[in-house]
Amino acid sequence: MSEPAFSDAVLAWYDQHGRSDLPWQHPRTPYRVWVSEIMLQQTQVSTVIGYFDRFMAAFPDVHALAAADTDQVLHLWTGLGYYARARNLHKAARQLVAEHGGEFPATVEEVAELPGIGRSTAGAILAQSRGVRAPILDGNVKRVLARLHAVPGWPGKKPVEKRLWELAEQHTPTRRLADYTQAVMDLGATLCARRPDCPRCPVATLCQARADGNPQDYPGRKPAKQKPVRQTRMLILRNRDGQVWLEPRPPSGIWGGLWCFPQLDGDEPEQHALQARGLSVRDTESLTPFRHTFSHFHLDIQPRLLRVDSTGRDLHDADGRWVSPADPGELGLAAPVKKLLDRLDSPRQRGLL
Ligand code: SF4
Repeated sequence: MSEPAFSDAVLAWYDQHGRSDLPWQHPRTPYRVWVSEIMLQQTQVSTVIGYFDRFMAAFPDVHALAAADTDQVLHLWTGLGYYARARNLHKAARQLVAEHGGEFPATVEEVAELPGIGRSTAGAILAQSRGVRAPILDGNVKRVLARLHAVPGWPGKKPVEKRLWELAEQHTPTRRLADYTQAVMDLGATLCARRPDCPRCPVATLCQARADGNPQDYPGRKPAKQKPVRQTRMLILRNRDGQVWLEPRPPSGIWGGLWCFPQLDGDEPEQHALQARGLSVRDTESLTPFRHTFSHFHLDIQPRLLRVDSTGRDLHDADGRWVSPADPGELGLAAPVKKLLDRLDSPRQRGLL
């Protein structure tokens, strides 16, 4: 296949069917493209748009983001998941301001040195905002190229990834870089999705997997591995005013920097957690347990509601705060905590937790 044949076909398809009304395309600055790329890493476009607009309203440029509190940033990320993305975004904004005067560097290598930005995201930012000729290889593009050239194997394996990068490089055109980059990602997100729609695909006549009749065999699957299961108890301490107690998690590790209920991971008696906070319990209730799944393990959560003898005016110097479940304020919340808060005062929902 001649390389321009692929990019020409993809660009012609984009001119007819591509998305050109996405908020980060107007204006297409490095900062806006960067934030959108990070949000889009694990989340669909339709969900990202609202988050992106709110984020831009709060932090219109890299200086505003760098000056923000971590809590503000995590608050605007609540619900998007994968919070390391938000923490890295914030860290990288501070680095951009401190080391580059708030400007994005000019090369893929320099951009890829910022926290949370890999080679593909760096390429996507520079290609889309400045028209730099930089190949990209996100999950969607990996799928397209693996099928187009019938590249066997799981892209998590180095030799497979290397081959896909070579192909990405070969197919990247020398013109219309911003459009091509958006177009090839869109092709993977729409027509060449998990279930490919080959009859409508602009590169169907070039595609090896289609000719072989087995596009769904590409890319190769990750060797199966069972996720381990961990257990935790979340202590919902509720005072006489109906408020509940939240504490910030340590900055690294799961839910780093987010606000959570106190947790007990082992056999430690609940009494210890109460004593440590100078509280005494009036009564307890076990709520329905549920599972929260991370990329590398399942967490089985047993929520325990502990009504305590406190008015909300004590525990002032402890590292935490009493909040109203209906209005916890501008805090970044771990997803299970948000779910528990939402359902705490809904008797019907409590049984569904
Ligand atoms: S022909 Fe089918 S498998 Fe090949 S790139 Fe197009 S949609 Fe994907």
